[in-house]
Amino acid sequence: MKLIDAHIHLSESEYTGHLDEIIADAKIAGVIALVTNSVDLKTCKNDIKLAEQYPDLIYPALGIHPWNINHLKPGELQETIDYILQQGQKKRLVAIGEIGLDCKYETIWEQQMLVFDKMLHIAEQLCLPVIIHSRGTTDKIVELLQSYNVKHVLLHWFSHPMEILDKAIDLGYFITEGPPVVYSIGIREIVKQTPLTNLMTETDGPVRYRKEPFNGQLTAPSCIQAVLEAIAEIKNMHTNEVAEQVAKNFEIFFNVKIV
Ligand SMILES: [Zn+2]
Repeated sequence: MKLIDAHIHLSESEYTGHLDEIIADAKIAGVIALVTNSVDLKTCKNDIKLAEQYPDLIYPALGIHPWNINHLKPGELQETIDYILQQGQKKRLVAIGEIGLDCKYETIWEQQMLVFDKMLHIAEQLCLPVIIHSRGTTDKIVELLQSYNVKHVLLHWFSHPMEILDKAIDLGYFITEGPPVVYSIGIREIVKQTPLTNLMTETDGPVRYRKEPFNGQLTAPSCIQAVLEAIAEIKNMHTNEVAEQVAKNFEIFFNVKIV
């Protein structure tokens, strides 16, 4: 079975010291591609290192996460932009991410908008797809993206509203869903309504999922198997067929050859 984790954060401290073991387990489980998403300059640099260490398995997406905007040091925004552009020119990344807007951080809304705009401009300049965080802001983001010339858009962990899902699918956007598809009625409904050609699998690790069968353990890419099985059940398909289509979607979206 070909397993794809299209959204994980391998440079987060929770993985430090466990990565070799996690990668070895992922390979045994059948994971053939992982997109590690950075959140700031430090993780951008580390994700590039990981991709060098595990070529043909780890693909980096570079960007500034809206949660990290508060922690930007003077000059760090420009330094990050320069770093991403430099890596982009060397074709070392597959996407700009994780970027976006978060409604919980309304107090820094202007800064969020500024950083998001800069990140979208980099994506335009480098002709790269974007991986979007859109908690409570999906409608706003979908509207905003109309004025950018971004190649492909991925709404990660899409959860609502349903009418925006229809619009996003019409626009050719992709969505990723992860472990909650196993137990969440809302996420299962989203998967049901999303054509398989617009869907990919993710863990968003190191996020820990408290419910069964994940029980709060450190999330590893090997749990994509459970995600695929849940999607197959919802779509009334064979798990292998779902895995094949997700792998195809991955190649189309990130413009890389993996299978
Ligand atoms: Zn994430």
